Amino acid sequence: MNKRERPFNIDRIIFNFTDHCNMRCDFCFIPFDRKGCGNLRLWLKIINRCKEWHPRSITFGGGDPFAYNEFPLLLKKLIQEKLFLQVDTNCLGLKDQHLSILKQVVKLISVPLEGPKPVHTAMRNDSNHFDLIIKWIKKLTKEKIGVKVNTVVTEFNLKYLDNLAKILREFPIKAWSLYQFWPIGWGKHYRRKFELKIKDFLLITSKIKEKYDFTDIEISTISDRWSSYFLISSVGRIYGINKLNFEEYIEFGDVFEENIILKWRKHGDPKAILKRSNLRIALITD
Ligand code: SF4
Repeated sequence: MNKRERPFNIDRIIFNFTDHCNMRCDFCFIPFDRKGCGNLRLWLKIINRCKEWHPRSITFGGGDPFAYNEFPLLLKKLIQEKLFLQVDTNCLGLKDQHLSILKQVVKLISVPLEGPKPVHTAMRNDSNHFDLIIKWIKKLTKEKIGVKVNTVVTEFNLKYLDNLAKILREFPIKAWSLYQFWPIGWGKHYRRKFELKIKDFLLITSKIKEKYDFTDIEISTISDRWSSYFLISSVGRIYGINKLNFEEYIEFGDVFEENIILKWRKHGDPKAILKRSNLRIALITD
């Protein structure tokens, strides 16, 4: 059995700061658990434990990791690691002083934009956020840090994707990910406003992909994603998606438990993780 086939390999770890977030987006799908934030010491222990599973990439997400004071210190501690590090941030906690460490360790930063300013504002309940994201796209790309833009495609913003593409093509971003809205987590409460049929999602997003070639455009349905989630919270709780009900997270236990991977594997698929990990890494190495 070669290394890639070993049952305990998890190629992509998603390390989510799930105690709280500094935004209130109605479509949010993150499993916030309010189980505490942890601290640098614990985060390093968690990462060391994860290394036993040979990850090729780690994505830090939120909430906003930069809303947690010690997060930049965690990045500093990872300078020597040969891992593909990605950070997903809503940019609210991002500061100029973080640029140096980002340039040294992070291969890709994902930032969110849901549409032109009025649409983005309506979906994220923050009238300053659109300008903040544009400001950071400019800064990060100027510093030659790889930027990916994430858009949650919903019934509400579907018809504005073309306008958003015209905005994004002005910047040298590495990729634009179009995610099908997923009624899970908080977003479940807003299903009626946001849910869209898979055929509408695929029809519009494939037209966008055909029309624009300024960057890699990635189209992700719920079924492309659900089995690839291996989520670790900042206190070491492991989450994945219930294979019997894609609208439900399952908490499998603690990262330090001996049989935690076996528990997760009853629902998740390491091959799906490898596929998504490869997609990310290819953006930077192509
Ligand atoms: S979508 Fe992102 S920024 Fe918005 S509440 Fe959820 S985690 Fe926070």
